[in-house]
Amino acid sequence: MIDLRSDTLTRPTDAMRAAMAAAEVGDDVFGEDPTVRVLEERVAGLFGHEAALFTPTGSMANVLAVRTLVGVGTEVLCESSAHIARAELGAHGAYTGLTMRTWTHPRGQIDLDAVRSLFAPDLGPYFVRTAAIAVENTHNFAGGAVLPLADLQALRAFADEVGVGIHLDGARIWNAHVATGTPLAAYGAIADVLAVCLSKGLGAPVGSLVVGRADVIAETRQWRKRMGGGMRQVGILAAAGLHALDHHLERLADDHAHARLIAEACGVDPAGVDTNIVVIPRPDAPGFVARAKDAGVLVSAVGPTAVRAVTHLDLSRADAEQAARVLAAL
Ligand SMILES: *Cc1c(COP(=O)(O)O)cnc(C)c1O
Repeated sequence: MIDLRSDTLTRPTDAMRAAMAAAEVGDDVFGEDPTVRVLEERVAGLFGHEAALFTPTGSMANVLAVRTLVGVGTEVLCESSAHIARAELGAHGAYTGLTMRTWTHPRGQIDLDAVRSLFAPDLGPYFVRTAAIAVENTHNFAGGAVLPLADLQALRAFADEVGVGIHLDGARIWNAHVATGTPLAAYGAIADVLAVCLSKGLGAPVGSLVVGRADVIAETRQWRKRMGGGMRQVGILAAAGLHALDHHLERLADDHAHARLIAEACGVDPAGVDTNIVVIPRPDAPGFVARAKDAGVLVSAVGPTAVRAVTHLDLSRADAEQAARVLAAL
């Protein structure tokens, strides 16, 4: 089976497992895991921020990150198919007491006019006030779409003008970086706080980080413990992340090339395939998924008329060519 359902399906390579086995570890709740510290400092530095915090999942990283910008009864503005709105099972409302209002863009992009009109200033204790704006780069449900840096910078200027924070859900920020050549620090500069994942395209088995100011991350460390996310000899997992940053970052370009190859074979406009996700419009998506499975290719239906194929580390060039042939024939 060629599995294109997600880039989370990768299994640690032998070299990654060796790095994990050799990791120096300590009790990270005591702040004594040297490998976790190296990972946190390295990732903070990549984004030009002061500090970072290792978390088990991207969803926890998002909840912890957004929490630093908002309070109970305030709101976050985001795009309507954002992961924080659609795929975290209401975590932000449940844990943080915030509400969300959304704008909609078919490619998950920032619509600054919509953001301006949604923005709610502080009108006293009768109305919900906008406390933060959240963006997602690349945008998962918009097919791995990249948000252009200029749009992010314009949003930053607006956020500064009205005095609200920006959260960047950067689960796949690595893909945006490799696809456009935009430095990670340039993405870091537009956000007060970021969440990034090691377990998507980078191919680590587990792990995400919250990135931000040192005092904010120190407080977030307490909130992680409060949520049950304090972990002990977790350097074993941090080592996988460090290995992924060393060996799996630049090769994301291969995943992007494989996605374009599949898109072209299926008659999908490659201009709409920015990174490693291909959305194939089909009148009967569930039926198509079943027929693809019979032909040895796993893809997913993301709605009644859209099929999604995601390329990743465990997919060779030959696999991508075979998948392209199968999907095109269907
Ligand atoms: C996968 C993902 C996350 C985090 O998901 P977890 O499964 O909790 O690690 C967050 N945001 C986006 C855009 C994602 O694709």
